[in-house]
This record gives sequence, C-alpha cells and structure tokens, in this order.
Amino acid sequence: MLRRYTVCMKQVPINIKEIDFDALVAEAVEHIPEQYKEKLENVVFKVEDEPSPEQRVKLKLRNSDSLFGLYEGIPLTQRNGAVLLKVPDVITIFKHPMVDIYRHLTPLKEQVYETVWHEVAHYFGLNHQDIHRAKST
Ligand SMILES: [Zn+2]
Repeated sequence: MLRRYTVCMKQVPINIKEIDFDALVAEAVEHIPEQYKEKLENVVFKVEDEPSPEQRVKLKLRNSDSLFGLYEGIPLTQRNGAVLLKVPDVITIFKHPMVDIYRHLTPLKEQVYETVWHEVAHYFGLNHQDIHRAKST
C-alpha cells in the first residue's frame, strides 16, 4: 500500500507594511540577464508609491487605471551615437498599485520582476507588441 502525500503550501498573506518593496525591485534589477544589464547606461531605477498627478495627466490615466511601472527616456534604438545624454533615463516602479492587487509574496515578486523587465524592454526600444511577442516565444 502506497501512502500518498500531498504537500499543500499555504500562501501566507503578506503584511503590506512589512514588505521591503525597494528590496524586491533591487532584486528584480539584479536578475536582469547579464547581456542586457551591461547595456543599461545612465538608467535610474526609482520606486514611488503612486504615479504623480503630472504623470497621470501626461499619460492620460483615468482614475481607475493603475500603473505598475513607467519608462521615461530615449530608447537606445532612437539615440544618435553622438548625443551625450546628461539626463538619465528613469524607470519608476509604483508600489501601491501592485501591493493593492497582490496579497502574496510570490505573485507580487513575479509582477515586480515582470514590470522591471517590461520597462527595461522599452529602454531597448521594444514596443508593447514586441514585448508581447517576445514573451510568447
Ligand atoms: Zn509598457
């Protein structure tokens, strides 16, 4: 008689206040594949609680829209080799829209990784169609 075991991993809801969201983002940045990471030049990663009112206007966000991340800069593919960029590109990851949705660490972490990667893809000049295509291959 074979005894069967079923391991039920119980996901413990996370206490939003206790989570070190900055560390999650730093970890996600750390996990960007090396061949891409070494090409990231003059890019600043930031964590903000929410998109600013200015960003909401600029991006035409409605009240119900939640934004996980934002890339602001000139994609590599559009840079003219001679241009010396003084202002860094900025990738911002927004904490509140994500922790409002994800109550468990694993999916939250996955979303942070996914969002960081998504914004980095924009830096490399990929549009949403490209990103979608890259994901499904
Ligand atoms: Zn995007």
